[in-house]
Amino acid sequence: MSAISTTPLGWKLSAPAPLRRRGSRATARVLPRSARADAAIIDGKAIAETVREEVRAKVAAMKESTGKVPGLAVVLVGERKDSETYVRSKKKACAEAGIESFGTDLPGDATEDEVLAVVAAYNADPNVHGILVQLPMPDHIDEERVLGAIDYEKDVDGFHPLNIGRLSQRGREPLFVPCTPRGCIELLERTGIEIAGKEAVVVGRSNVVGTPAALLLQRRDATVTIVHSRTPNSEEIVRRADIVIAACGRMEMVKGSWIKPGAAVIDVGINAKDDPSKKRGYRLVGDVDFEECAKVAGHITPVPGGVGPMTIAILLQNTLEGAARAYGYEL
Ligand code: NAP
Repeated sequence: MSAISTTPLGWKLSAPAPLRRRGSRATARVLPRSARADAAIIDGKAIAETVREEVRAKVAAMKESTGKVPGLAVVLVGERKDSETYVRSKKKACAEAGIESFGTDLPGDATEDEVLAVVAAYNADPNVHGILVQLPMPDHIDEERVLGAIDYEKDVDGFHPLNIGRLSQRGREPLFVPCTPRGCIELLERTGIEIAGKEAVVVGRSNVVGTPAALLLQRRDATVTIVHSRTPNSEEIVRRADIVIAACGRMEMVKGSWIKPGAAVIDVGINAKDDPSKKRGYRLVGDVDFEECAKVAGHITPVPGGVGPMTIAILLQNTLEGAARAYGYEL
């Protein structure tokens, strides 16, 4: 049965449908070119669903052979509606994958020591293989201290300095890699886009997305440049790139004129753009001007339905890998 996805421009795209492009190992997860865009649309929703199916099957096999399942603990401090929604969707995704969820919801006035005590308890719990502290936390809590208290062997978000340090060193392997950047690489690899030897430009240098994305590309033998808010000639540098990962938090900043013809463009951005034609008054757009860039790029991710769905899929994958390591089980 073919899935239907809708691009930000409202086009209906049928999937899966194999796409053959010059020199690419295209897979069934790349949607056909749209009549209005030249780029092949990378269907992140479908690829994320494949990853989730793979995790589900591996969790079932692990349970069958060891009697154990992976466990993910989510710590939420405060009553932010958006955070509550994210936490709920993570728990639902765990349940669908057969991963056991643990959760602690603390009130917004919880002390830092109370949060640290919850983290310490999950660190000590052998049924928990991943600990995630939902950000942002209330201002009176030192996020760095709390994140640093997570056992790096359960650091499923991959933000612990030991994991980031290993990611940045040749010959070292991090135990976990941050979910969104790993999701970007999965999108490229599962679409058959060559990374080794290519010129890659990452727009943005945050600890959460830009920097780990650049490290991952470099580990796969791309030649990587990072541009940021103080780069005077970002446009010129991006135009050299065979692969662009945009994570600058600036709505539709990367324009069609910035893109080298045929480049692969991965848009991490999520921004709400006013749109009176929508019931809620806005629509989601990325850090890339999709309409312009899709006319020039070879491959492009839409927003929504590109990188976004991958983040949670990789969270499940990271949790599974943490459990496999803890149980000495080969995946
Ligand atoms: P962030 O922490 O705000 O970092 C933005 C980065 O972009 C910074 O390094 C900043 O440079 C750089 N930047 C800002 N203006 C720029 C410009 N004019 N030219 C070049 N670089 C510029 O954001 P983030 O957390 O990395 O997130 C980036 C985007 O991804 C946001 O839209 C966010 O909503 C989205 N996001 C999506 C997911 C997902 O699951 N899809 C996950 C996380 C984030 P400086 O370092 O110089 O300030």
